[in-house]
Parts: sequence; structure tokens; C-alpha cells
Amino acid sequence: MKISRQKKINKILNFYINNFGFHSPFQILIDGTYCYAALKNQHNIQEVLPKYFLSELKLLTTPCVVIETENLGPKVTGAAIILKKFAVHKCIHGANYVPGSKCIKSMIKELNKNRYVIATQDRELQDYIRNQAIGVPLLYLHKKTPVLENPSNATVEHTKLHKTQRFQLNPNEVNLLTQLKVKSGIQQDENSASFRKKRKKGGPNPLSCKKKKKVTDCKKIIKNNSENKIKKNRKRKRVRIPDHVKQELLQSK
Ligand SMILES: [Zn+2]
Repeated sequence: MKISRQKKINKILNFYINNFGFHSPFQILIDGTYCYAALKNQHNIQEVLPKYFLSELKLLTTPCVVIETENLGPKVTGAAIILKKFAVHKCIHGANYVPGSKCIKSMIKELNKNRYVIATQDRELQDYIRNQAIGVPLLYLHKKTPVLENPSNATVEHTKLHKTQRFQLNPNEVNLLTQLKVKSGIQQDENSASFRKKRKKGGPNPLSCKKKKKVTDCKKIIKNNSENKIKKNRKRKRVRIPDHVKQELLQSK
């Protein structure tokens, strides 16, 4: 078997192992249609499936499936013979046999609590498993090759929801967590007197009550500032008289 195909099968199996408690040996619940296709395509179920799953398997069927296949007549005698080799798991129908697909639907109720992998070529049953069942791996034959189908959307969505709920705390757990936080000093007790202590009454915030300066005062300030600036900018220029001019002036006196 190709490595990529084996990886895919392992991934699917691990999904069911981690989310629905599947484990080895996996229980394969087989109906008459799968046995009929296996015989037609020379697919030896007992030899091929353990290699495909790389695991020990329990190959199973139900009383209703065996009776239904037997009743279909000589055309499916070979399939009935194959079915009878498998262990028969008791169903709820007792002596009131029902069609095989109906029996299998009853076996996978309540989130497939007995963890069956369903091996079937029955299109109607396949659609039921894809659209309405949760946590039910589907196995079918493509010619002589077994195919384990990816988990259905309904199954994946159920798993996501279940995971979210699993990590959500109920009100009692929230209370307990708060008490532990208070005990360890991480959180202050909301009911304690110190937590409820009112703020002291103080004066108003001085910043928010700052008086506005009168417009006339502002004008004065602006004027003074501008005058000061002008004064600062006004530098006294010293006029230097050259020496020969000074001498001439002295002589002229
Ligand atoms: Zn039954």
C-alpha cells in the first residue's frame, strides 16, 4: 500500500480514536451489500481489511443482516456464506427481524457508543451515515480497493462544538476559581469592606476649575510680550570712527 494512502487512513483513524474513543481491535460491522461486492471483486475481507487498517479487527454482522441476505435467494448465497463467518452482534430486534440497513442504523444510535466502523455498499445507508449519523466511520469498496471515508461534516462540526463546551466553565466552577484566586491573593474579594470602600470626598479637581483669564488681561500680556521682544531685538549700534578721522577732527578744533 502507498505510504500516502496509509497516512490518510491513520489520520482518519486517529480522528476517531481521539474524539470518539475508538481503539484497536476496531469493530467492523459488515452488511450483505459489502460481502456481495467483495465476492464480485475477489476481495478477501478477512485478508485485506487487517492489512488496510494495519490493526487487529473484529469482523461483525447482525442477525437481521444475515436473515435479510439469506432471504434474497440463490443470487446472493455466496455473500450470505461470507457473512456467516463473522461474529454476530446482538441487535434490539430479537426475532422481529428488520431490513439490514434499519438494523445497522439502530446499532449506531447514541453517537455510535459501541464504536462500529460500518462497511456497506448500500447508497441509502451511506448517505444516512454521511448526513445524519455522528462519529460513524464509513468503509466501502471501490472495485476491489477498500476506502475509509473522511469524517462527515456533521461529525467534524460536532467535535468542534464538543471541544469548545469541554473547555467552558460552569457557574460553580467560576465561583470556585474566584474563591481560589481570592485565597491566593491574586484577586480582591468583591464582598470585602476594603473593596467597597468609597472614595474620599475631596475638593474639586483644581485643573478642571482653572479660572479663565479675562480678555483684557490677555491683551495686556500679549502687548507687553511683543514690546519686550522689540526691545530685545533693538541692539545699540556702536559707530566706530577711524583714527585718521579723529585726528582731523581734533586738528579742526
Ligand atoms: Zn436487528
